[in-house]
Amino acid sequence: MEKVTIDEVANFPWAAETIRRLSEPLGAEHVVVNHYELETGDSFAFAYHSHEFQEEVFIILDGTATFETDAGEVRVGSGEAIRFEPGEFQRGWNHGDERVVALVLGAPRAYGNEQRLRMCDDCAGMRHHDLEVREENHVPGGRVIVAICADCHAVNGEWSEGSMPGEVP
Ligand SMILES: [Zn+2]
Repeated sequence: MEKVTIDEVANFPWAAETIRRLSEPLGAEHVVVNHYELETGDSFAFAYHSHEFQEEVFIILDGTATFETDAGEVRVGSGEAIRFEPGEFQRGWNHGDERVVALVLGAPRAYGNEQRLRMCDDCAGMRHHDLEVREENHVPGGRVIVAICADCHAVNGEWSEGSMPGEVP
C-alpha cells in the first residue's frame, strides 16, 4: 500500500501549469496517474496526438476542458469523464476562464509509439514533431522544450516554465 498527498508531489510543469505525476510515488505498475491543473490557454499535451498501446481517461474535477478529436471539438465539464482508445487522436485544452483540474489515467504505462501532429508552416500541413529538451540558463526553470518537424526540422513550438500558459499553442 502506498498513500500520497497530491499537493505534496513535486510539480513538473509541461504544457500545463501544474502536473503532479502520482504513478511513481504510488508505485503504480500498470497505470499512469497524473493530476493536472490547467490555466486558461494551457493544454494537456504538446500536440494533437495518439498513443499506440495506451488508452487514456480524463476525469474533469473542475472547470471545462475542450478536446480536439477526429469527431470535432468535445467539451467535458466538471463531473464528466472522457476516454480515448489506443490510436485515437486527441488534444485537450482549457479554453475557459476557470482553471481546469483533472485526473488523467493511462494504461498500460508504456504507451508505445506516440504520433504528435502539429502544424508546420514550412511543410504547409500537420506533421509529426519530435520533442527535445534543451538546457537554457536564461529562462525560468533552466530548460526549454522544443517541437521539431520530423520532415523539415523546423522548430514549431517552444515552451519554458515562464511561457507555459498557452503562448505557443
Ligand atoms: Zn515541416
